[in-house]
Amino acid sequence: MADGMIHVFGHTNPDTDSISCAITMANLQNQIGREAQSYRLGEINKETQYALNTFEFKKPDLLSNLDNNTNVIMVDNNEFSQSVSGIENAHIQMVVDHHRLNLQTAEPVHCIAEPVGCASTIMYKLYKQDDVTITPKIAGIMLSAIISDTLMFKSPTCTEQDKITAERLAKIAGIDLYDYGYKLLEAGTDISSYSGLEIIHIDSKNFQHKDLKLTISQINSSNLEEVFKRKPEIEQAIEQRIQTENIDLFIFLATDILAANSKAIVLGNKTDIFEKAFQTKLISNTALLKGVVSRKKQILPAIIETLEQKIQL
Ligand code: MG
Ligand code: MG
Ligand code: MG
Repeated sequence: MADGMIHVFGHTNPDTDSISCAITMANLQNQIGREAQSYRLGEINKETQYALNTFEFKKPDLLSNLDNNTNVIMVDNNEFSQSVSGIENAHIQMVVDHHRLNLQTAEPVHCIAEPVGCASTIMYKLYKQDDVTITPKIAGIMLSAIISDTLMFKSPTCTEQDKITAERLAKIAGIDLYDYGYKLLEAGTDISSYSGLEIIHIDSKNFQHKDLKLTISQINSSNLEEVFKRKPEIEQAIEQRIQTENIDLFIFLATDILAANSKAIVLGNKTDIFEKAFQTKLISNTALLKGVVSRKKQILPAIIETLEQKIQL
């Protein structure tokens, strides 16, 4: 039987929601008398660092693998392919997530999954449920996650609940929601110090569907032209990942945070699946996807649907 401290973490290549949920869930557990600590499964991106600085949180410690039977709470993720090594043999006590479910456990698990725009919106409800005070600091970091995940409420993943929760949290934190929100998103768009490989690594997720090995990587931008000035370097980095990881389809999205469009660079031996899914022709490996900002609600389902159709034919 597993004993001891609960390790709380989100997904690899952590985003603001994964870090925020790890911090707020560990705090919630501590407040209700359980030993818990937050961790990160990778480097902190610039947007998340901005949020941590603003609300004066230290970044969680890095976790690179788990001992057998470690007590775990997974937040903002439930897919082992996006988790820490050793997760297969962990004792998963709880999952709080807002992604598709792709989890198999040996034991029963307390799983809270809701189709809201941000896992921190669920965290807010858990604080209320357990009657634990949301301090201005905690409110600020939760709010940052909602702004980030919903792209300031512009993403189709955003629900009324996310918006109402964000407004309440902004009041508790004592900040101007929109003024802070755009500063936060803008902080995440600076790629000047990153190499091509780092750019495609900031927010990269791997998926396996049937035979297809798919990677979808995304960055936010307030100036797509600036990003595409570095296209050759980005393409070279993608080709390198494809070679070393045997990826069939690599989709890199640069998402315009103001216009709420994305421009994609698509490479691999299965780019026809992308073209079919979005009824578009790639021109020098790129395509503009109008109104597309969400990997989980717009990109991934379209790819999976196309794959399923192909299999049926
Ligand atoms: Mg996330
Ligand atoms: Mg999230
Ligand atoms: Mg995200």
